[in-house]
Amino acid sequence: MYCPFCAAHETKVVDSRLVAEGQQVRRRRECSQCHERFTTYEVAELLMPKLIKADGSRQPFDEDKLRAGIHRALEKRPVSVEEFEASINRIKHRLRATGERELPSRQVGEEVMAELRRLDEIAYVRFASVYRSFQDINEFREEIERLSSGALRADDAEEPSS
Ligand SMILES: [Zn+2]
Repeated sequence: MYCPFCAAHETKVVDSRLVAEGQQVRRRRECSQCHERFTTYEVAELLMPKLIKADGSRQPFDEDKLRAGIHRALEKRPVSVEEFEASINRIKHRLRATGERELPSRQVGEEVMAELRRLDEIAYVRFASVYRSFQDINEFREEIERLSSGALRADDAEEPSS
């Protein structure tokens, strides 16, 4: 890049190191004309895609809203802060990894459900019942039954018998 002091086109990197826990690269540069030194920081541009709502309107991705929704579903469930944070990161990663600049907002909901399903079945049902607003009570019951025939029963079996 050009020297910010004399605008010479030739500058060289004299030092380069990772900072901010590897999230940034800090470079010391020296101008080959005036020999002034300056620092640049390089960070990856990680933009979240915009969300397309059902009515076609666009909204910026709202991490607080994502966190609040998952947090509500996990209330009083045995899920650690680390697991919670890891889930948030996986969801964001997968949304970014699509490479799309815009995504249907329901794709976020589907990602949340996939994560909750791994984390905690009860939280999953809580979230799904609100998010997917099950068509009718039978559909909801089927989901509960599907779940209780799998992981929930396995969990119950691990409870110490009295
Ligand atoms: Zn210069």
